Amino acid sequence: MIIAVDGPAASGKGTIAKALARHFRLPHMDTGVLYRATALNLLQTGGDPDSEFSAARATDIAQIDLDDPELKSETVGGIASRISVYPLVRQALLERQRRFADQVGGAVLDGRDIGTVIAPHADVKLFVTASPEARAERRFMELKRLGLNVHLPDVLADIRARDQRDTGRGAAPLCQAEDAVLLDTSEMSVEQAIATAIEVAGRPTRQS
Ligand code: C5P
Repeated sequence: MIIAVDGPAASGKGTIAKALARHFRLPHMDTGVLYRATALNLLQTGGDPDSEFSAARATDIAQIDLDDPELKSETVGGIASRISVYPLVRQALLERQRRFADQVGGAVLDGRDIGTVIAPHADVKLFVTASPEARAERRFMELKRLGLNVHLPDVLADIRARDQRDTGRGAAPLCQAEDAVLLDTSEMSVEQAIATAIEVAGRPTRQS
């Protein structure tokens, strides 16, 4: 079974995807990490985020430790969002994601274009979203817990800017696949969101 989980920044899609993977005993890939690793590689090698060719060269991420905490930083996330608009970058990262999706036994992938581009044939597609305010609040609490000195209005502005870039780009924009189930987590606890996602994924699939 292939499960595609898409949605905007801080919607809870990563948490939901991990829980689905655990529940259905499937391997999980957070595809945002590939874009973040490319961004970090670009930064470390002095590349230019405004150059599509420079960013495409940085997709060779073999040297990057995919568990590096630096990948989670807002700086890296911001650059990841900027370079993910480039078709050459998306193309270079595509094969790796498709192979992961199509492995024997299935997989869970979360990102922005899993149900639309990477695995349009996925058995289950979820589009996880929440209001920008709810997402900003969650991201704010998360950053505070990490001990960072952040301001809610700045976090909200950052979320809105990222939404605009992710939905407005020409290459594989963030959008709900026609056959995806919408899961709005604005008013849900983490437990409720996970339970709903498991219930949706456990329903008979399109083939049956
Ligand atoms: O999900 P995360 O915030 O880690 O992703 C970082 C950036 O990578 C996103 O803002 C998005 O622009 C990009 N991304 C993408 N396609 C994916 C996953 C992430 O464009 N499948």
